[in-house]
Amino acid sequence: MSTPSDKALVPFVSVDNMMRLIHHIGVEPMLRDLAAYIESDFHRWELFDKTPRVASHSDVGVIELMPTSDGEAYGFKYVNGHPKNTAEGLQTVTAFGLLADVYTGYPVLLTEMTMLTALRTAATSAMVAKYLAPKGSDTMAMIGNGAQSEFQSLAMKAICGVETIRLYDKDRAASEKCAANLASTGLKTVICTSPEQAIEGAQILTTCTADKQNATILSDNMVGAGVHINAIGGDCPGKTELARGILERSDVFVEFPPQTRIEGEIQQMPEDFAVTEFWQVVTGQTPGRTSDRQITLFDSVGFAIEDFSALRYIRDKVKDTPYHYDLDLLADPDDPRDLFGMLQRAKA
Ligand code: NAD
Repeated sequence: MSTPSDKALVPFVSVDNMMRLIHHIGVEPMLRDLAAYIESDFHRWELFDKTPRVASHSDVGVIELMPTSDGEAYGFKYVNGHPKNTAEGLQTVTAFGLLADVYTGYPVLLTEMTMLTALRTAATSAMVAKYLAPKGSDTMAMIGNGAQSEFQSLAMKAICGVETIRLYDKDRAASEKCAANLASTGLKTVICTSPEQAIEGAQILTTCTADKQNATILSDNMVGAGVHINAIGGDCPGKTELARGILERSDVFVEFPPQTRIEGEIQQMPEDFAVTEFWQVVTGQTPGRTSDRQITLFDSVGFAIEDFSALRYIRDKVKDTPYHYDLDLLADPDDPRDLFGMLQRAKA
């Protein structure tokens, strides 16, 4: 029986190995590294293939494919969003992804991306907040204290210098879990009993709830001048977190408008509602925050280029580590045209 050639083996990073790699690097250093990879890909935004993600909706959730390419590598992520899952002991969001070489079309990495999505989402939020949040921001309200919340909190600490997280969740057990998980990180946490209490004194307001409906997590009268809103949870048609009046008073920054107009907070607004593409802030073509009283809003839905950056990062980092297995994923006969012969020899 033939053994697969080295060139056809595909490095695979399992959940266990991803967790080993994260601990090997450290959560905060990894968030900083990921933010740097994502920022560098925002710098070269224009050369990527871009398309709104391909979504398959059901009554209970969504399954999505998120592809992109920079001409040298191609990547995609499979991701779901099922807010009802936690009640059944399952994750709301799970994911895996693949990076391939454009020249051969051969995959060069297959990896879990549930952990990696939480890290890349948080790294993106903090990278954006670095440009848009008021200078010297030290307090964040974290509304929705589920799977993403600790990652969001730590990224804001590692990248923006946030020191205090004011937690609110409709389920107090989620806030207690989040506070306990953050206890040894150097962040101060305060569990609040309402969203109004959570936003007191916070310069950054993060909404990260999961509910398959148009919710009003922040109402218009709750948002004062000068804050930065990091809106994470509204990322699907019919699933939003902010009152429309907030959008009217804010300067709205988005990843890829054709996708955000379908999935983001701005799905509530007319098609021609003005938004700024965030890559233009990174490249200096458009200003970010321009005044102390301005409300900046990052209407995050999660875009394929952020996953591509994360896949690139993992490919670079696992290379010389034991944190992967080699998968026999591709049939690669010695004579490329003799696929059937390879099958026959396998029988022998
Ligand atoms: P999760 O289910 O683990 O946590 C969600 C939390 O929100 C739960 O603790 C729930 O009790 C709380 N919640 C729901 N409704 C609330 C309300 N009205 N007020 C206060 N709390 C409320 O989900 P998660 O994995 O942390 O993801 C959170 C959201 O972020 C999801 O909607 C997910 O789709 C989205 N998400 C977005 C991105 C992105 O790139 N923008 C990436 C990952 C996840």
